Amino acid sequence: MEVQMEELRQQLEKQTLINQELHKQNNYLERRLQEKEKLLQNGQSHYHHLEFPAQRSSNEANLEVRRSRAAVMAPEPILEEQLEIMTSKVKKTVSETSLIVKAIQKNDFLSRLDDEQITMMVELLVAIDIKPGNNVIKEGTEGDSMYIVAAGELLVSQTGQNLRTLTCGDVFGELAILYNCKRTATVKAKTMVRLWCIERNTYRTIMTNKSRKKREQLMGFLKTSRTLNTLNDRQLSKIIDSMEEVKYHNNDVIVREGEEGNTFYIILKGEVLVTKMMNGQQKQIRKMGKGEHFGELALIREILRTASCTAVGPVTCFSIDKEVFEETIPIEHLKLHDSEVSNELDVPGKTSVSSSLSLTDLIPVLYQEGRYQGEPVTLGVGGFGRVELVTTLQEGKYFAMKRVSKKHIVAKHQEEHVLFEKRILKATQSDFIVRLHFAFKDNRYIYMIMDFCVGGEIWTKLKEVGRFDEPIAVFCTACVVEAYAYLHKKGIMYRDLKPENLMLDAKGYVKLVDFGFAKELRHGDKTYSFCGTPEYMAPEIIQNQGHDFAADFWSLGILVYELLVGSPPFSSSEPAKIYPKILDGVLKFPPYMSEGAKSVISKLCRPRPGQRLGNTKNGIKDVRHHRWFSSINWQKLRVGRLEAPTIRLIRKGPCYINFDRFPFDRDLAEEEFSGWDENF
Ligand code: ATP
Ligand code: MG
Repeated sequence: MEVQMEELRQQLEKQTLINQELHKQNNYLERRLQEKEKLLQNGQSHYHHLEFPAQRSSNEANLEVRRSRAAVMAPEPILEEQLEIMTSKVKKTVSETSLIVKAIQKNDFLSRLDDEQITMMVELLVAIDIKPGNNVIKEGTEGDSMYIVAAGELLVSQTGQNLRTLTCGDVFGELAILYNCKRTATVKAKTMVRLWCIERNTYRTIMTNKSRKKREQLMGFLKTSRTLNTLNDRQLSKIIDSMEEVKYHNNDVIVREGEEGNTFYIILKGEVLVTKMMNGQQKQIRKMGKGEHFGELALIREILRTASCTAVGPVTCFSIDKEVFEETIPIEHLKLHDSEVSNELDVPGKTSVSSSLSLTDLIPVLYQEGRYQGEPVTLGVGGFGRVELVTTLQEGKYFAMKRVSKKHIVAKHQEEHVLFEKRILKATQSDFIVRLHFAFKDNRYIYMIMDFCVGGEIWTKLKEVGRFDEPIAVFCTACVVEAYAYLHKKGIMYRDLKPENLMLDAKGYVKLVDFGFAKELRHGDKTYSFCGTPEYMAPEIIQNQGHDFAADFWSLGILVYELLVGSPPFSSSEPAKIYPKILDGVLKFPPYMSEGAKSVISKLCRPRPGQRLGNTKNGIKDVRHHRWFSSINWQKLRVGRLEAPTIRLIRKGPCYINFDRFPFDRDLAEEEFSGWDENF
């Protein structure tokens, strides 16, 4: 007891000392800050644009604004081996099918699923009956099913207010089939009700399985091509990512004899008739069916088509143009087999500041003034944890300490992600990625002690000025490109790019933080989890088609847009409305955007992952060489010798001046003993 008291006393003394010191510094800085702020406010007016949010009056947290974006959904790990769940298909009458299909076509999100996905959904819906007065879904609870009303009436209400009535053919709860989100309204049966229902697990399992099988099948088809069979799986997979589905009606001529050919086709559905002019007459050569391909020579040579191919009945093909093909695979590499990229993580040399440090050596830094004066500084609050500012006794060095409740991690099935985040951060050594110095755990929390990025979040800066001018946006994006280059080379996808996860260091260089969603993947493989931040999610993730490094390049395009415009291109206050927009992929550029910016965004946000800048044949080099980055000297950037235009965004003052402010979380998390964190 006495020893403990003594320890506490010492701790308190140290803390008082540090706080006194901070206080001294801060009085001075505070004064300078006020002057600077005035200057900044005057100077900032030129940044403003009528359409964009005005600067916030202070940097005290506006939690309402933050929540909407910080709410990253949890990737729900589906065990890959469990994918073969046998789900029974429910037979439906013609009129039932017609009602369901109409309902799907009326729905913003569902109508964008492809025909096969819709067919699967129709087959898998099961009927449930609900008695009058019973709730189907309840506001605030986590949902796992989507419903289509087959008969009866239901009432939708939100915070006790009646909103509308649902009747036959209406769809509700559809977001829940994508991920575990909270229901935003209550739906109660008014009459006797019959619903068609599908659960997320069923939906995702089936979609994932289908996508996987489809890829495998396409791979098999491609391997039968004489031109392509020398390519390895990784290259073939890239070609699949670049290919597009095209549909033909009966009698449509797909290729015409004598015309210049520049497209290669694989038949996915239907039959194609091959004919050739002989002695002035069309002669039937043969019929081709599913899995057969034509036009392959067009990919490697300038040729004139030697025969015509015509659709017999409806035909679906998967096709790729020569131009795209050349972008995807260098022709001279056709016979080359890339060596597998090593997945081994390097063990970094020097990550520690001091060789040993324990949790008790770290002292919270306190707010020196303002609404939370005297409380520990919280730098950020994310979906999973809080990040607090701490300092060491001996060196007086600042660190950002991420603290996450173990109970929460277990409840949200995030064990793997947390372990992986720690492992990756420990093993990365890039100036464009935040460094993890120490990791600790106790009964309630895991702690990660990282470099403190004193310049704050890019997100905060962006909100302050509305939108960035081009040099700043180019610089920030260039830093992300370097972080990507480092990670992708190691076989790590980042998967959570957004301004909230980009921090500025003292020099104004951008660092990636938050590796909660990062994942190791072999080049050529795909992963099927659903994760990210809605506005930044690539279409293939939303559609459960399997995704890879290309999804990071999509997000990069969204980032460039958001930095330049102040808001992302596909957005809505309701997540359910974001996804259809992403799937439509229509980018609208404001008039002030430069041609270079429009070009880089359009190329990064191409719907087909294989066609995206960064994922084409020269990889990330193509991004670096894009004209939007022409002002960047990449060599200098990599060694930190490029002057950062972002420096003028960083305020001088108390060390937390560049951060929003958050109240301290006094609640202690519950203890957790399951032992998942043994290796943390
Ligand atoms: P998310 O909801 O994005 O998954 P999270 O709970 O995983 O969040 P982080 O994104 O790692 O947590 O951190 C939350 C916030 O804390 C960041 O957005 C940032 O404001 C702040 N932060 C994180 N790391 C640092 C750091 N090294 N230096 C300064 N601030 C940091
Ligand atoms: Mg984050």
